[in-house]
Amino acid sequence: MEKLLYFDICALIILVILITSTLFRNMLRGKVNCFFFALLILSLITTGFDIWAIALDNAGAGNLTFKYVAHTFYLLFHNLTTPLYIFYIIALSDTWHIIRQKMIFPILLFMPFAIDIILLISNLFIHKLFYFDANDTYTRGSIYFIIYIIAAIYFLFGFIYLAHYRLLFSIKKFSSLIAVFPLMLFATMVQMLYPAIRIEMFVHSACLLYICMMVQRPEERLDMDSGLQNLSSYVNDIKHAVLTKKQNRIIMINITNYEVVRKMLGYENNIKMLKAISEKLSAININMLPQSDLYYLGSGKFRVVTDLIPYDMVYAAAEMINETLKPNLTINQMEINLIACVCIVNYPEDIKDAESLLAFENELNGRYYNGNVLLAADIYQQSHYEIMKDIDRIIEHALTNNEFEVYYQPIYSVADNCFKSAEALLRLHTQDGKFISPELFIPAAEKSGAIHKIGVFVLEQVCDFIASDDFKKLHLNYIEVNLSVSQCMQSGLAGDVLDIIKKHKIETSRINLEITETAASYSQNTMLDNLNILSDAGISLSLDDFGTGYSNMMRIASLPLRIVKLDKTFSDISEYPNMSVVLENTIRMIKEMNMQIVVEGIETEQLAAKFSELECEFIQGFYYSKPMPKDKLIAFLDGSTYPSDNN
Ligand code: C2E
Ligand code: MG
Ligand code: MG
Repeated sequence: MEKLLYFDICALIILVILITSTLFRNMLRGKVNCFFFALLILSLITTGFDIWAIALDNAGAGNLTFKYVAHTFYLLFHNLTTPLYIFYIIALSDTWHIIRQKMIFPILLFMPFAIDIILLISNLFIHKLFYFDANDTYTRGSIYFIIYIIAAIYFLFGFIYLAHYRLLFSIKKFSSLIAVFPLMLFATMVQMLYPAIRIEMFVHSACLLYICMMVQRPEERLDMDSGLQNLSSYVNDIKHAVLTKKQNRIIMINITNYEVVRKMLGYENNIKMLKAISEKLSAININMLPQSDLYYLGSGKFRVVTDLIPYDMVYAAAEMINETLKPNLTINQMEINLIACVCIVNYPEDIKDAESLLAFENELNGRYYNGNVLLAADIYQQSHYEIMKDIDRIIEHALTNNEFEVYYQPIYSVADNCFKSAEALLRLHTQDGKFISPELFIPAAEKSGAIHKIGVFVLEQVCDFIASDDFKKLHLNYIEVNLSVSQCMQSGLAGDVLDIIKKHKIETSRINLEITETAASYSQNTMLDNLNILSDAGISLSLDDFGTGYSNMMRIASLPLRIVKLDKTFSDISEYPNMSVVLENTIRMIKEMNMQIVVEGIETEQLAAKFSELECEFIQGFYYSKPMPKDKLIAFLDGSTYPSDNN
């Protein structure tokens, strides 16, 4: 019976196209690409031997030696394709370290193929695997089934391995990779039952074409501007490392002045700068950290990820990166001075899980730059990140279990020589005894949306206190309540606030709302509407943290503000001789805009005296009192007790 050649010719064409495109796309770097390319070449050779064997079989009697050579090599290479496909899967899942650890895997991978080789060699003498009958026709021998058993072992191993590590792949990749097994099984069965229909290599090459389209897509992993791997590949690879318990050493490089430089350079020059940095980093990588990966996460953040490289080598490379980025970069005749913060993280020794690691990335930008390589082990605060990982649940739990409590910090009036107001500051003591700072939970609540419930809770508590008889005895004019940016942007805010005040039957003048300088600098209609409605209703407004953001004085002057709160940074700088000019002029300017001043963060008697002399109307700070619970505030203002450390 004539064997069909067409399928193999189609396979040959597909494989030649795939090999050419792989070469043109220059996809030969890295284990994954190497195994895929090897798979293509092996398939091409196998198909070549199959075509030769079919041609010889179809030619009829004779050419016995060539027939033995063609069939033996076809079987040899063909049987190697499945183990090579498994290697490709292992490389894709980046689980070599697991394979290396467990002796059973290398044995499972190599033993069956070794048996194949022994069978094929011995077949040349004993003809039990296949032979040529009296008419020189190819005939399967009595032990040919062993070849199928070995193929079945590989199929099973590959299938189970892929299914076991399925979480390491996206659904798209996983389904493409696993589809190969049933398709190849089908092709093998067809060829086993109908030896004339040679479709195995055709189905095999069609599967490779599909994988090439669905899995081998380096473009998806690349950042187009820098030419390095992108943020999503980085996040994926880090998550892989966690799932497979792989140890990594990461060099984090954050260009902390990136935003300023980017704006200065413009789009084209910025890309030139990114490319220049990438080239410098690639050169160091190739020379000092072979087999490491380079990523650009955007916003001036570069990452070098290595595994199994000794710490000394990684440290030396980090030092080299640090020194290389210090001199000015010349971009289009402009001299650019980059401030690069370089930090080494041993993962998971320094930081234990992926989320904390990713959260730590941002921390670096806020750090004081001292020009040295930083070590995460020195600066990472475990407890802080553990809380942040779980913060949404903690906030929800606190809201439903009454773990939030409003504290009050009295504010001293210089003119009245006594306390005339207080600021409401939220505290969170969890049931398991942890104190969580508002600096942590307020930004998290803003992101999750829980800030709106928190805002209502604080205002309800404050209004309840103001409506009480206790409050009347304190002779406080009002309580200051903090509003965060996202609250100000909420269209119903003004209505909600006024409803709560009305419900408690208190005067609107008893509430002062604080908005931060950053919120004030957003020019958003919703926020302006809210502030105008609240101000018209008699609620006074304060500008909090003045001096910490980039103030747009024109905008601030246009808002209905009654008080400006000078941030603690003003009291910190007041010691420096040149700064007193800045301070005096700032105070004068605010007064000329008809606003009153509260100075925050006053910790000493000298500072309290200094700001009184500078004619600030109100003083707030630990010098007078830390924030404290309502009862302690009542006792404190009564003059009966003085609080110690209540924070
Ligand atoms: P803020 O509104 O600027 O509050 C002043 C912060 O400075 C408070 O920190 C207070 O404890 C602290 N402070 C007061 N006097 C001194 C001092 O003399 N020295 C020093 N070093 N610190 C002083 P706290 O309570 O940790 O609050 C931090 C921030 O969290 C607040 O800054 C505010 O922006 C936010 N926050 C607190 N409670 C709420 C709330 O109920 N709602 C909203 N939206 N934000 C809140
Ligand atoms: Mg405040
Ligand atoms: Mg403040």
